[in-house]
Amino acid sequence: MLDQYNRDIYYLRIAVTDLCNLRCTYCMPEEGIKLKKHEEILNFEEIVEIVKVAVSLGFYKFRLTGGEPLVRRGIIDLVKMLAQIDGVKTLAMTTNGLLLPQFAKQLKAAGLSRLNISLDSLNKERYNKITRGGELADALAGIKSAREAGFEKTKLNAVIVDGFNDDEKDNLKKFADENKMKIRFVKKMDLKSGDYYGVEGGEGGNCSICNRVRLTADGKLRSCLFSDYEVDVRTVGIERAFRQVIENKPEKGDKSLKREMIQIGG
Ligand code: SAM
Ligand code: SF4
Repeated sequence: MLDQYNRDIYYLRIAVTDLCNLRCTYCMPEEGIKLKKHEEILNFEEIVEIVKVAVSLGFYKFRLTGGEPLVRRGIIDLVKMLAQIDGVKTLAMTTNGLLLPQFAKQLKAAGLSRLNISLDSLNKERYNKITRGGELADALAGIKSAREAGFEKTKLNAVIVDGFNDDEKDNLKKFADENKMKIRFVKKMDLKSGDYYGVEGGEGGNCSICNRVRLTADGKLRSCLFSDYEVDVRTVGIERAFRQVIENKPEKGDKSLKREMIQIGG
């Protein structure tokens, strides 16, 4: 579907949970976030319905994110349900990778097309610090199992924080090459101040060619990462919600004050 700036919007990022097994410093406040009640979170049937309507409006690329998508109970079943929908050409997932040793093979068998795995540092202490407690070895095991499960064109996502890990870019690039993966460097963004940058090694961050909208775990369609404009699919209805959110997609991002990154899905 074309928006009012003639951008073709065909990519839906779906946050399937606002829970996570890490607490990255740039993604959520130290005190955590107020979790949604179970009934506020979209169930699988609702997500399937939303994707079907999205396909009917011209969407064909979908990505599961969160929070950490692999902590959502039954995630493999959801992947299966979505991968079977006619018109879903790409079904990808962004994950911190910690649970991939358990799930990579099942995700592949369920029809997931591709993985993006987040990895900000190859230094054990730094990884632990930026994720507030994560173990680098677990992330590396996840990356290995993605390869072993047969995933191709896997991308690594590194958030670069100046003065913290900007000295690791060469090392991370080398690691990606060794693992036959591409690496994307994303400079740490700040939703509240509106600071955002282009993505080195990938799309995103260039408003003039933006092709996406986002669905939050509690059923709100969002027009832009850096805007608080959102429409509730449950109250407005799915197709109307898509039309409204695309009609109101801003020419460029400003800021978002109401949600943290973990509640939008990045
Ligand atoms: N838990 C999964 C993960 O970390 O890959 C998926 C959700 S996470 C919110 C999606 C992506 O957003 C991750 O690659 C993460 O690094 C990125 N992200 C989170 N906060 C960010 C920020 N402030 N600036 C830039 N990227 C950010
Ligand atoms: Fe969790 Fe991903 Fe946010 Fe880190 S970036 S806290 S892994 S949702």
